[in-house]
Amino acid sequence: MSRVLHVLLDVERLTASRDAENPPGTIDPELADLLAFSREQSIATTILCANTGKSVRRMLHDAGWDEVRVVTESTSWLPDESGTSLREHATFPFANTECDRCAQCRRNLMLGTAGEGDVLIYAGDGHSDPCPAEYADIVFARGRLQTWCQQQNITYYHFGSFGEIRRRLAIDCAHRRLRPRARAERKRREAYMVEA
Ligand SMILES: [Zn+2]
Repeated sequence: MSRVLHVLLDVERLTASRDAENPPGTIDPELADLLAFSREQSIATTILCANTGKSVRRMLHDAGWDEVRVVTESTSWLPDESGTSLREHATFPFANTECDRCAQCRRNLMLGTAGEGDVLIYAGDGHSDPCPAEYADIVFARGRLQTWCQQQNITYYHFGSFGEIRRRLAIDCAHRRLRPRARAERKRREAYMVEA
């Protein structure tokens, strides 16, 4: 059985900076490269964003990235039953009464869409990120999440750009280093037991 890799990205800016080559509202070219890499490697990608989900969804659609899932605080675009197209959910399918950090609990989102043996990769920089990061096998962190990882002694890669995430994943894929992390696996098993 081949392992499924999931990348969840929660970073404030997904769009290109304003310069002549990259008109505002277009996807950051390094993010586009990361999405292309993920498509090539069959890595399922989810983008978590604050309240601009609809425009992010439209932007991804216009650029041909229809398989990328988008989740906001109030809406999710997730695969339908057939797994061939994305459907909009306006409720909170991943609410978690135990979690006061996120409305759509990112941990539950991650666990709800991954199977046993999958490798979960999380990249983030904000307030809600410690919640899922503890359950992820590979963590890319900066800002608040980086500080939290240091405090909790969680191994992470620092990243400054999407390009750095792609380069690191390419190296780890080539060396078959993308594997479950024992502490994250244990946490996931505990979470599944509580939910069951
Ligand atoms: Zn949460």
